[in-house]
Amino acid sequence: MKDIILMKQGETVLKGLNRSRFEKLLIADIKSRLTEFGRFKVSSLQSTVYAEPEDSDCDMSGAFEDMLKVFGIVTAVRAAACEKNAEAIAEKATEYLGEAMKKASSFKVETKRSDKSFPMTSPELSKYLGARLAAAYPGTKADMHTPELTVNAEVRDRAAFIHSAPSQGAGGLPRGSNGRAVVLLSGGIDSPVAAYLMAKRGVKLIPLHFFSFPYTSEQAKRKVADIAGILSSYCGNLTVEMTPFTRIQEEIRKNCPVELLTIISRRFMMRIAEKTARHYGCGALITGENLGQVASQTMESIEAVQQCVSLPVYRPLIGADKEEIVRLARKIGTYDVSVLPFEDCCSVFTPKHPKTKPKINSVLEAETRLDTEALTEEAFSMIEHEQIMTGRRYYDC
Ligand code: ATP
Ligand code: MG
Repeated sequence: MKDIILMKQGETVLKGLNRSRFEKLLIADIKSRLTEFGRFKVSSLQSTVYAEPEDSDCDMSGAFEDMLKVFGIVTAVRAAACEKNAEAIAEKATEYLGEAMKKASSFKVETKRSDKSFPMTSPELSKYLGARLAAAYPGTKADMHTPELTVNAEVRDRAAFIHSAPSQGAGGLPRGSNGRAVVLLSGGIDSPVAAYLMAKRGVKLIPLHFFSFPYTSEQAKRKVADIAGILSSYCGNLTVEMTPFTRIQEEIRKNCPVELLTIISRRFMMRIAEKTARHYGCGALITGENLGQVASQTMESIEAVQQCVSLPVYRPLIGADKEEIVRLARKIGTYDVSVLPFEDCCSVFTPKHPKTKPKINSVLEAETRLDTEALTEEAFSMIEHEQIMTGRRYYDC
């Protein structure tokens, strides 16, 4: 029997009567991703998803790395399958983990036995395998407390499996299992992380970006497309809604008090985002806002911005420290692109002294000098749809 990938489902298994819907989405996501790496048979049993290569030329390393990005999987490991008898399991462990045993100074065996008809108990099998491995690799000491290598043996219904420590998966809920939302995606550090966190909860993303030619460059737009490309390696193909924002910003600058420029710009962003969200049947908007980070993210500013839309606004980073956000951005791989020095439309028009506690009446009064509806409609009608394809055949959720 060959090397396979074993993946543990996360919260999907807690879904009671809805479990099969979540599991179907998870399996569909895994299957569509694996087409990239060869022919695999994918099945699910006892909260575990099995991906078995059907050809000898399947790219197992590539497939394994990719499985760590699947939302809904908490751990994944490459494992060797063998027959369910102690001798076969010992032989397989000796062969399959030989290199790792030679490298480690100490080891222990942990056994799980979900097939209760197996004639040995878990401790008995662990002891037996420990003795066989110690005899085969005398340089590696048994250590029950702080072993360098843990050898896992699992006796399941369909076969026995040998593997070392599993890797952490992406966690969360399966792709597309929790509705869709428009994410306001700037080229900064925060909004890609916010997008990732909501995609991790199963939300299908519609990224929306505002650009201000000629104040912002073509490179700034490319940067956002690149960030979307990185996000798509987790959440599948994306279409970025690239929205021209110059006219709106110029109108605001011409007609409104300079200290309200940011707040009023944000309110336009939210209106356009809501219009886009309704168009695509989304149930929420997502932003990378973070309480107190900048003038437009005080309690008062957030309230003033929120008021112009009726869809819920998800702000998964509202209480995070910058350091935590940066750590996540590095982990998911967006950080290096986010810090590239291209201007965002917000930074181009930032007033020197923005209002940190805007009065809603002053904002509403200033907006009477603009045709908000026409400006929103015009920007919405000029949206460019940029497809970010990973080159894969993702299923459409
Ligand atoms: P980041 O830009 O990553 O969010 P930030 O600290 O620069 O971080 P702001 O510029 O204040 O945040 O923007 C707050 C939120 O507004 C962003 O998280 C994002 O959701 C949205 N936003 C800002 N600029 C844009 C833009 N050009 N296009 C789309 N959304 C934007
Ligand atoms: Mg920003």
